[in-house]
Amino acid sequence: MPPLLQLEDVHARYGPTTALRGISLTVGEGESVAVLGANGAGKTTTLRAISGTVKRSGRIEFAGQSLGRRGPESVSRLGIAHVPEGRGTFGELTVRENLRLGAYTQRGAAFKADYVRVLNLFPWMADREGQQAGTLSGGEQQMLALGRALMQRPRLLLLDEPSLGLAPSIVGEIFRRVKVLNAEEGLSVLIVEQNAVVALDTAARAYVLEVGRVVVTGSSEELRRNESVRRSYLGY
Ligand code: ATP
Repeated sequence: MPPLLQLEDVHARYGPTTALRGISLTVGEGESVAVLGANGAGKTTTLRAISGTVKRSGRIEFAGQSLGRRGPESVSRLGIAHVPEGRGTFGELTVRENLRLGAYTQRGAAFKADYVRVLNLFPWMADREGQQAGTLSGGEQQMLALGRALMQRPRLLLLDEPSLGLAPSIVGEIFRRVKVLNAEEGLSVLIVEQNAVVALDTAARAYVLEVGRVVVTGSSEELRRNESVRRSYLGY
């Protein structure tokens, strides 16, 4: 069986700046995979290349379809939900309105079922449906962004630095939810993180990027034992 997502020799640039210099990676059906690397290594751009929010070349296939020429809406309709860095929720809109936006392809009963599912995952949202998203805490906004992505009923979830700016206990809470979605619902996940400890704890495999290239890959267990990964990303 081919992997759910496959990138082969993917390049991307922003004007004169080359961000990706030939990235190859895969995510299998039901798999959870992390992308690690320092600032500017190309992690965010890798997710953007998949979701069609940056111009890219090379081969990108998802569930047997080529993504190479698709824009973000077409990619999302195929079943890929992208939670961007900085969450991407709408601060002026309420919790419910943000979730409704995620479900733009669903109507009526389907919307209700997905809405209930998100509220079950994040029970605090039930009491705060009418609250403006901009007044939520950082952790709550990250959960709302995750909830909004789930309203799309994705097969693959792209998460960009979900830990950014959050207290460790909140980070733990968010990653526990991601783990449950992966393990119990079979949702495939590709997580970009600078927090390698938590990413390796959540994902089964990881890729380490340096200046737009994959320099190390392996199971999370192997990467934890890899001395250069330990020194550079795990701090021991
Ligand atoms: P970070 O953790 O800082 O987000 P990253 O690993 O996600 O880092 P990218 O954001 O993908 O890295 O950036 C890869 C390269 O592309 C860097 O050299 C960065 O400066 C450059 N870059 C990223 N976004 C833009 C942009 N909008 N315009 C110009 N250059 C950009």
